[in-house]
Amino acid sequence: MTQRAYNFNAGPSALPLEVLERAQQQLVNFRDSGMSIMEMSHRSAIFDEVHNEAIALLKKLYAIPENYEVLFLQGGASLQFTMVPMNFLQADQTASYVLSGSWAEKAFKEAKLFGTPVEAASTKENQYRSIPALADIHFNEEDAYVHITSNNTIYGTQWKEYPETGNVPLVADMSSDILSKPIDISKFGLIYAGAQKNLGPSGVTVVIIRKDLLEKENKNIPTMLKYTTHADSNSLYNTPPTFGIFMLGEVLKWVESKGGVAEIAKHNEIKAKVIYDAIDNSNGFYKGHATPESRSLMNITFRVADEELEKQFLAEAKAAGFIGLNGHRSVGGCRASTYNAVPLEACEALRDFMVAFQQKHQ
Ligand code: PMP
Repeated sequence: MTQRAYNFNAGPSALPLEVLERAQQQLVNFRDSGMSIMEMSHRSAIFDEVHNEAIALLKKLYAIPENYEVLFLQGGASLQFTMVPMNFLQADQTASYVLSGSWAEKAFKEAKLFGTPVEAASTKENQYRSIPALADIHFNEEDAYVHITSNNTIYGTQWKEYPETGNVPLVADMSSDILSKPIDISKFGLIYAGAQKNLGPSGVTVVIIRKDLLEKENKNIPTMLKYTTHADSNSLYNTPPTFGIFMLGEVLKWVESKGGVAEIAKHNEIKAKVIYDAIDNSNGFYKGHATPESRSLMNITFRVADEELEKQFLAEAKAAGFIGLNGHRSVGGCRASTYNAVPLEACEALRDFMVAFQQKHQ
């Protein structure tokens, strides 16, 4: 087998090697059916089992309370930017959005099509280097919901504590840190995430929704864009992305085999620290983008202080087998995404590369 790359892609991103190998072993003749999971009916008993196993395992691993539904949808997190307000924001209502990065801004923009989204706080003026302080977040008791982005993939910031919103449902885009650490699901009304970072391949969007919210949903909206359509049919209203759901289930089994989300979280902290230490110990040769208290454990954003050297850094890193270190095309710089499946060895190898590059060019 050829060498696996040090994969720091921001999404789609690294999957655990064990998962890929297990999928490969099961590919051609899945559970003695004489066909792959991709070739069978989504109404078959075998697929049904795979689908329900994945839902049950996500509920178990993430300690999702009984009064929540887990949905597997399509259209990416981007469609959730639309579905959330389409279902829950009335034309005469407000919803508060915390603007902590480009994805939050996109969600905010979509909501304007349906009602009145209001800025709850913004960190735009500091180039989204931080998460707003909880005390600076303003919302209204009449809001349909409060929307946050739990991890800002592009700027490399992450919420450490979530706002208390009382009776106003808290909605979170968790695309880039879902299942990376234990959270108290009961604080949230709705969580959504594209699968392609921590959960599996692209094509599946996970929604965790508190059941009572389903009753508040707008009625005159397209069938496929209503949460109740999917909740009432166990996410099998139409043909789901069967292979993606199978892979998601395999990733969840891998998380379980590693000791669950709490163990994964410890590992994520160790991994991120390896790279942040390389930045912090570089005497300014590398500069972190995020303020230390808002640093993400999933996306580590930094610059090489000298712009020419930065180009060289990225080129040499690529040649040395480090993939995906270019920052998002909208901001440039460097970004190492260290999602659940990125091994510690990859982070240590990157640290060693960063230290060696600095020694050579300082
Ligand atoms: N929200 C966040 C925080 C993201 O990182 C991304 C994708 N990188 C999206 C939303 C958009 O996701 P999708 O491509 O699944 O629509």
